[in-house]
Amino acid sequence: MTVKVCKFGGTSMADGNVIKNVKKIIDADKQRRFIIVSAPGKRYSGDVKVTDLLLKCHNEAISHGDVKTAFSAVRARFVSLVKELNIKFDINSVLDETEALIESEQSEDFTASRGEYLSARITSAVLGAKFIDAKDVIFFDKNGALDGEKSYKAIAEALKGVECAVFPGFYGCGIDGKVKTFSRGGSDISGAIVARAVNASLYENWTDVSGFLACDPRIVDSPKRIKTISYKELRELSYMGANVLHADSIFPVRSANIPIQIKNTFRPEDEGTSILPILRYKPSGSVVTGVAGKKNFSVIFIEKSLMNSEIGFMGKVLDVVAKEGISVEHIPSGIDTMSLVIESERLGGEKLEKVLNGIKQAVKPDTLRVIENIALIATVGHGMSSSVGTSARLFGAIASADINVKVIDQGSSEINIIVGVSNDDYEKCIKAIYKEFFN
Ligand code: ASP
Repeated sequence: MTVKVCKFGGTSMADGNVIKNVKKIIDADKQRRFIIVSAPGKRYSGDVKVTDLLLKCHNEAISHGDVKTAFSAVRARFVSLVKELNIKFDINSVLDETEALIESEQSEDFTASRGEYLSARITSAVLGAKFIDAKDVIFFDKNGALDGEKSYKAIAEALKGVECAVFPGFYGCGIDGKVKTFSRGGSDISGAIVARAVNASLYENWTDVSGFLACDPRIVDSPKRIKTISYKELRELSYMGANVLHADSIFPVRSANIPIQIKNTFRPEDEGTSILPILRYKPSGSVVTGVAGKKNFSVIFIEKSLMNSEIGFMGKVLDVVAKEGISVEHIPSGIDTMSLVIESERLGGEKLEKVLNGIKQAVKPDTLRVIENIALIATVGHGMSSSVGTSARLFGAIASADINVKVIDQGSSEINIIVGVSNDDYEKCIKAIYKEFFN
């Protein structure tokens, strides 16, 4: 039988009434059998996520051992949530046990993970489903990365003969046998791991938005919704800051060709966005799928005549940066020029100085210049490589908006053109590109 794996984010778990929606969603489709939940998120703007309340508890635990005051806010959230749900669940004893463990463990990861743990315990009671602790089935390796094979096997084993199960998201078990969390927003990754382990037909990711938008709604009013997007396009856009989904959550499902559907818990009837492996992906007909960007990059510009004939030139430059432990985002290059595009905050302190001196020594450039306050904007779409004139339209739109382009990089995947403009032109540039391709 085909199986769907559903992950519910923080806002879908925010209070008892919202969790009732979750139950309706699960009950509406028999294929929705395995569920991953986040900790309760914000109920209204200005509210505090349970994970953040827990991180406060951790600070209290390490400063004076007793977490009573900070934990009282967590307690209040869960007590009222269970009350709203009107279920038989002895939340106070589970909370007492959790509070004692937070005090004795004194581990940030353990404490941060308790929001998901409690959410999953409650959701399993609501759904009458089995609770499976992520600590027993999701494993990290000695480098702190996911041990996929071991985890997939353990999950499949734990689910044998199980009709419906709930897993807490966001954490697993470290090499030392203790709870270890993913980075923030990591329940998306947990969902993808479970989907991969059971070879799901679909990974449904339930959020509080009806899918991805073609660009940031804080910049363009009501941008178009993206109906379908390929994994590749999503990777490019989410790397650039379009974040509905944790960027690492793609990998477990992508290699198994499992599609992801972004859905809205508050409007389950909305179609949402399908994220598809390239094999199943049919471009929507529009040339560009989405536009996203980030501010605050620095560009180190290097010029030297006959650079192209100097063997190992680029390698020497990259060595300098690698020695400082700095990652480079892009390397646009010409015959006698190359530029390093680096997030400005990575060059803080003495780093920039060290990098520049290192480059001077290593390759003796004719010109070495730093351009600061650069925003990068990625225009992404499979349709771009096959339609003639796309870059002319893109640069035409930017020029008409009177914006000076300082960096150009066409990713070798041919589905992405990145332009670097001044931070001050960032919003104007996104608006101009959106208008050209979507209006
Ligand atoms: N609760 C965690 C966070 O707030 C993980 C998650 O929601 O995915 O980051």
